[in-house]
Amino acid sequence: MKDIIIVGRGLAGATLSFQLLAKGIKHHIVDQPSLSSSSKVAAGLVNPIVLKRLKMVQGADEFMTHIPDFYQTKEVLTGFKFYHESTIHHIFANAGEINLWEEKKDNVFHSQFLKGLAKNTNPNLLAPHGLGVIEGIGWLDTQSFLNAHKAFCNNNSILITETPFPKNDLSTLAESGQVIILCNGHLLKDWEVLPENTFTPTRGEVMTIETDGLSENNILHSSIFAIPLGKKQFKIGATYHWDKLNDMPTGDGIERLKTDLEKIYSGKYEVINHQAGVRPNTKDRKPIIGKLKDNVMVFNGMGSRAALMAPQLSNTFLDYLTTGNPLPAAYNIDRFL
Ligand SMILES: Cc1cc2nc3c(=O)[nH]c(=O)nc-3n(C[C@H](O)[C@H](O)[C@H](O)COP(=O)(O)OP(=O)(O)OC[C@H]3O[C@@H](n4cnc5c(N)ncnc54)[C@H](O)[C@@H]3O)c2cc1C
Repeated sequence: MKDIIIVGRGLAGATLSFQLLAKGIKHHIVDQPSLSSSSKVAAGLVNPIVLKRLKMVQGADEFMTHIPDFYQTKEVLTGFKFYHESTIHHIFANAGEINLWEEKKDNVFHSQFLKGLAKNTNPNLLAPHGLGVIEGIGWLDTQSFLNAHKAFCNNNSILITETPFPKNDLSTLAESGQVIILCNGHLLKDWEVLPENTFTPTRGEVMTIETDGLSENNILHSSIFAIPLGKKQFKIGATYHWDKLNDMPTGDGIERLKTDLEKIYSGKYEVINHQAGVRPNTKDRKPIIGKLKDNVMVFNGMGSRAALMAPQLSNTFLDYLTTGNPLPAAYNIDRFL
């Protein structure tokens, strides 16, 4: 196989790199972390159910076949801990949500995750309609995952060059003679290699708070989530904005997060961190993987769910790369070209 260059080392690039390494395929990574990183901000929630409508995330039955195995094998390989199995307590907004839960909970797929209803016992939690318990999910400590990947590359002679990969047109890239895989997140939009509006990135903001009044045993979810990080710290998020597509947190963002938190939580808290990132969303909300031109590939577009999707999709993509097996049409970049 030709030399492989992965451009970008967020969740997409790092996951793909782990898969290449598992097959003994050497590669070179070019990543300029300071450009823009969604992965460093992500809450890393791995949840196959869209909680608002209790719908299965499209393809989640396939994605979940690699969860938690992919992350757990990489933990053993690297000696880092980054995947946390967990439970979500969904705060019902009204009686209609409870009815929907009852309707869906026995579906073959949903029944693996939607478990019983629970009463709220926390006086600081504003949950008059009670809670729905979702099991079998988890969250990825994305920064720790990226650190583990970097350490593993360093120990296995995989070169990571921290420099911007020059933006180029497809013909120039194709002439390089290397397999170039663009895992450059939302910045792919600026390369103008895709039809206009294929990419519809969204900025998202999260804050980390410290508080005594929330349970550290489960993730909370309403219009926002609260993920327990340990030491009484919780990641709270996330917002969606279609403007200012950069990694700068805003005053509007933090106000929105606080307002949403205070709708469900009356306890005291202190904000200790506030971050923003840009999700690489596509217009049909599905990933984009495959061939752009000749040996120029893309593995991108994982929107709000890279932690759920990337393990399975990277496996599928690698299969395509090494054996030529066709990619699923739903994710193939061909649908936009
Ligand atoms: C607030 C927020 C909350 C989120 N919560 C979740 C969640 O709970 N669960 C979940 O699964 N997902 C979540 N996401 C989405 C998740 O962050 C993305 O799906 C994922 O991080 C995308 O990974 P990526 O590798 O494609 O892009 P990125 O993480 O953006 O990585 C791209 C990398 O490429 C580099 N790069 C770009 N251009 C170049 C270049 N020319 N040369 C060199 N390097 C370059 C960038 O600097 C960066 O390091 C969230 C996102 C946000 C913003």
